[in-house]
Amino acid sequence: MELRELPLPGKIAADAGLLRLEACGICGSDYEQYQGAMPGLPYPLIPGHEPVGRIAEIGDVAAQRWGVAAGDRVAVETLLPCGFCRPCQSGNYRLCSGRRGLSGYGYQSIDTPPGLWGGFAEYMHLDPHTMLHKLSDDIAPEIATLFNPLGAGIRWAQQIPGTKIGDSILILGPGQRGLASVIAAREAGADCIIVSGLSADEHKLELAREFGAHHTIDVEREDLVKRVREITDGGVDIAVDVSAYATEPVVQAIDAVRRGGTVVLAGMKGPRPVENFYSDRVMGKELTIKGAFGVDFHAYEPAIRLIESGKYPLEKMHTHTMPLEEAERAIQILAREIEGEEAIHIALVP
Ligand SMILES: [Zn+2]
Ligand SMILES: [Zn+2]
Repeated sequence: MELRELPLPGKIAADAGLLRLEACGICGSDYEQYQGAMPGLPYPLIPGHEPVGRIAEIGDVAAQRWGVAAGDRVAVETLLPCGFCRPCQSGNYRLCSGRRGLSGYGYQSIDTPPGLWGGFAEYMHLDPHTMLHKLSDDIAPEIATLFNPLGAGIRWAQQIPGTKIGDSILILGPGQRGLASVIAAREAGADCIIVSGLSADEHKLELAREFGAHHTIDVEREDLVKRVREITDGGVDIAVDVSAYATEPVVQAIDAVRRGGTVVLAGMKGPRPVENFYSDRVMGKELTIKGAFGVDFHAYEPAIRLIESGKYPLEKMHTHTMPLEEAERAIQILAREIEGEEAIHIALVP
């Protein structure tokens, strides 16, 4: 990674805009991109796909379509859907097939005009296909960037599994998305929320309890599945795996849900198979397994309202605010590559 100066776009088109960034969140996807683990990306590019900022300039048509004016604060969704393919027209724009590859902020070449396609910057182009959400002026920008992980928690731990009052739910992985899942499960009315993590995650597990988890399990000291079965008298209704890389939690999730339960797979594992996966367990228990990719409008909106409500001390989840110059170090800190630094959520502020 390196700092580069790029020109601002000239005249803004009637259906586009320009965002002045206030902060941009960092997540595991930034690390994968940084490592080159995402195939087919058009480098060089400006990373950053969780941007919050203010409208610096806006064309007349865009202002009318988006209902915003210069100076308004907005959170910008990652994806730039085409709007016309079957998934888009059926309301599943996360699965848009109209454009090749990953079409979204943080993933476009700087050679695609006007080049400013990422949130790790002072300014970002607002394409006509942008999906954005207005956001209160009262929230600190770095906290506002939590719209992304919180939206993920709401979609993965509440909307996809259909979590409802009285449900029991196991969340595997206590990172920013795991903690957001705790909040989402609590908001949904789950009355037994269990979060698992490693010994090194103790401070995150503690925060999980503060956000509403009823039990936390250190998988290095306890047998996860056995403990879950004890707590729930046989198994949880829902298990959500948000852990990155490790494949063992997939098997644990399948073993920890009750008969007829639901497993949501939302953690990126990279190109490796899941060892010890026995499909008979899915068949025999009549499990429902659902994949979760990204977040959409239906989850971002409640996430933003929840942030604005101030109901949860989200600032405890936000551990680092760093300048653009330290983007590379920020990504390394999030990936636990810098000794002595423990992060949950990091935002870059220009
Ligand atoms: Zn992200
Ligand atoms: Zn589409």
